[in-house]
Amino acid sequence: MATIPDAYLSLSDDEARERILKAKEKLGKQLLILGHHYQRPEVVAIADRRGDSFGLSREAAASDARFIVFCGVHFMAESADILTSEKQIVIHPNLNAGCPLADFAPLDQVEPMWERLVDVLGPGRVTPVTYVNSYAELKAFCGRNGGAACTSSNAHKAFQWALERTEKLFFFPDENLGRNTVKRLGRQGLKVAVWDPALPDGGLTVSQMLETDVFLWKGHCHVHTWFRPEHVRKVRELDPQAIVIVHPECHEEVVDLADHAGSTEFILKFVRSAPAGAHIAIGTEVNMVKRLAMEFPDKRIYPLARSLCPNMFKISLQSVAWVLENLGEVNVVKVPEPVRSQARVALDRMLQLAA
Ligand code: SF4
Repeated sequence: MATIPDAYLSLSDDEARERILKAKEKLGKQLLILGHHYQRPEVVAIADRRGDSFGLSREAAASDARFIVFCGVHFMAESADILTSEKQIVIHPNLNAGCPLADFAPLDQVEPMWERLVDVLGPGRVTPVTYVNSYAELKAFCGRNGGAACTSSNAHKAFQWALERTEKLFFFPDENLGRNTVKRLGRQGLKVAVWDPALPDGGLTVSQMLETDVFLWKGHCHVHTWFRPEHVRKVRELDPQAIVIVHPECHEEVVDLADHAGSTEFILKFVRSAPAGAHIAIGTEVNMVKRLAMEFPDKRIYPLARSLCPNMFKISLQSVAWVLENLGEVNVVKVPEPVRSQARVALDRMLQLAA
């Protein structure tokens, strides 16, 4: 894995920005820079498009730019590579920017446990669905087993789709998004069980496996589980007019106490349409909240608590300048076959399910 040379690390932000803007001017439409909402403000500022993983996947799929630089975490660049043509080149400014949530569900752990479950249930009774925050191998696994990928924007649609397709569904790798999504479905009587990969048979007995409708792989995002019920209670005490809005990767108790829960795109739309003077406390990654506060100075926007994603933070102006000045030579993300085409099946279903 190539590492960013000292000559780039020592650039000031202004110098790096100037070099990025020069490269953008030279490449014109051949280049598309995508920036996730959780990126640092200075990185979002040089992106051509910003959005959540769902929106940016769509941008990548619709783009005919030759080079796509994905400022986000690694699985996002993988998804962009899978959704673009063979001729397009996807580049990630820092290959060390992974996602600890995705790390919870490596395929070599998932596959034997899935086989055990199918042995118990019999074939064709469970559909695998993976959150897009997962490795390409897990998406490929879902694709080849009749399943789908989803984002926090369309998880409820993916769950409905899966439960219509088979009696049961297995969701990876975020237990909290899974719980919050089941609740959002509003279907009475759905039996939910957590599958703990650290335990034999996920910690379930055969009869528990047979009676469960929704299996949730035990994994979480440390950025969103940082928010606690006490944070919501404190905000309510100090700022009674505040509206609390959180991401559905937060604990169920936090989502229950909040006024609203939704994807980053949902949060953005909510803030945009709130009246001037509104007080909004937001439970998601702090860089996004800080940016919203700057962009909507007529509203009082602040973090529910300060929680930063250190992996998103690994992308800097310096790393973007480096990959742009060595275009196609460093940090190219190429998902090999057959993983690519199998994962594409799961991602295409995700795009079809819409938000
Ligand atoms: S915020 Fe959470 S899910 Fe998103 S990249 Fe960071 S660790 Fe992964």
